[in-house]
Amino acid sequence: MISQEMLRLGRQSSVIRAISEYGAKRKKEIGAENVFDFSLGNPSIPAPAAVRDTIVELCETLDPCKLHGYTSSAGNMEVREVIAESVRTRFHAPCEAGLIYMTCGAAASLTVALHALINPGEEVVVPSPFFPEYRVFAEKAGATLVDVPCHQPSFALNLEAMEKAISPKTKVVLLNSPNNPTGAVYSEESLSALADLLRKKEKEFGTEIYLLTDEPYRELYYGEGTVPWIPNLYERCLVGYSYSKSLSLPGERIGYLLVSPRCPNAQDVFAAVCGAGRSLGFVCAPSLWQLVVGKLNGLTSDVEEYRKNKDLLSSALSEIGYVITPPEGAFYLFVKSPEEDAYAFAERAKKYELLLVPADSFGVKGFVRLAYCVSRETIEKSIPAFRALMEEYKK
Ligand code: PLP
Repeated sequence: MISQEMLRLGRQSSVIRAISEYGAKRKKEIGAENVFDFSLGNPSIPAPAAVRDTIVELCETLDPCKLHGYTSSAGNMEVREVIAESVRTRFHAPCEAGLIYMTCGAAASLTVALHALINPGEEVVVPSPFFPEYRVFAEKAGATLVDVPCHQPSFALNLEAMEKAISPKTKVVLLNSPNNPTGAVYSEESLSALADLLRKKEKEFGTEIYLLTDEPYRELYYGEGTVPWIPNLYERCLVGYSYSKSLSLPGERIGYLLVSPRCPNAQDVFAAVCGAGRSLGFVCAPSLWQLVVGKLNGLTSDVEEYRKNKDLLSSALSEIGYVITPPEGAFYLFVKSPEEDAYAFAERAKKYELLLVPADSFGVKGFVRLAYCVSRETIEKSIPAFRALMEEYKK
C-alpha cells in the first residue's frame, strides 16, 4: 500500500487552486477580460528587464559547466556573501554567509527549517489567519500546529492569546509579516513584546523556542521605513526569504533560509538545516537563479504598482460599503463577508464573475481574501460587479 497520507494530500485540492481552476474555465467560456479573478497570489508586475539582461550576460560570459553545474548543497558561497553583506547593511544586523542556505523559494525555506528544528510531538504556534500550507509543512515535520487568532479587525498580534498558547511543547513560533492573507505588518513594539514573552517562557519551561519568520513580502510594504528585522529583537531566529514576489519570479523557485548568528547554537542549527535539506532532497537550489539573484540582490519589481492597486480597490470597496482591513503590505485585501458564511458569499460573487477566496482555509471565518496582483483594468472593471453584489445584501 502506498502512503495514505501523501495520497490524501495529493488528492485534496486547495480552495485557492479550485477557484483558480474554475476561473480558467470561465475565462475560456466568456473571455478573460470578463472574469475578475482575485484568487491567486501570482505577481502581475513583470520581473525587471535587468533579470533578462543578467541571464543573457551570464550565459554569454560563464563557462556552461559553472553556469549549470551543481553548487554546494547550501548554495554558491559568493552569492551567499552578497546576501549576507546586504542584510548587514540594510538591517544593521550580524549575518554570515556560512549560515545562509539557498532554497527553492519560501516553501522550501520553511520546510527545511521546520524539519531542522522539530522533534516528534512538538508544537508550532502560528498567529491566524495564516498561509494554509503551514499546516502541511508543520505536520510533515512531525509537529502539531497551534493557531492563535489575531486581534480583529486590525489583525495585529494578540499577545495575551499567544501567552496562553505557548506550552512546554512549543518549539517554533512561525510569523509572516507582511501577512498573507490580511496584509497586516506586525509592529516593532508587538514583536519586541513577543520576544520578551518567548524569553520568559523559555526560562519558565527550560526549553528552546525558535522564531521562524516567513518574509516573501518584505519589500511589498506601504508604510514608513522598513518592516522590522526580527533577528534584531530575538536571538533564536531563522528567516525564510524568497524572490518569488519581490522580483516577480515565483516559477523560478529561488530564495534562502538564514540562521541568525545571534542564535546561541547557530552552528548546530545550520548543520541541522543542511541535514534537513539533505534528507528532503532540497540541495543545490537552481544554479543559474542563484547567480541571477546574487547579481541583482536589492532590486525589486515596480512594487509601487501594487500600492496603486491597493489604494484603488480599498477606496472603491469601502465606498460601496464593504468592511475592509486596510493593508499595510503584501498584495492581498482582507474583506469582511457581508453574510456570516464566507463560502456562501464567495459563491454568490461568482454570479458577477468575481473570484474571491473564503478565508476559512487560512484559519478565520467570515472573511474573503482578494489578491490584487491583477491589472489595473481588472480592478476598474470589477467595481460595478462589486457594487451589484453588495446591492443584494442591501435589499
Ligand atoms: N509563504 C507565504 C506567506 C506565501 O504567501 C507564499 C506564496 O504565496 C509562500 C510562503 C511560498 O512562496 P514561494 O513561492 O517562494 O515558495
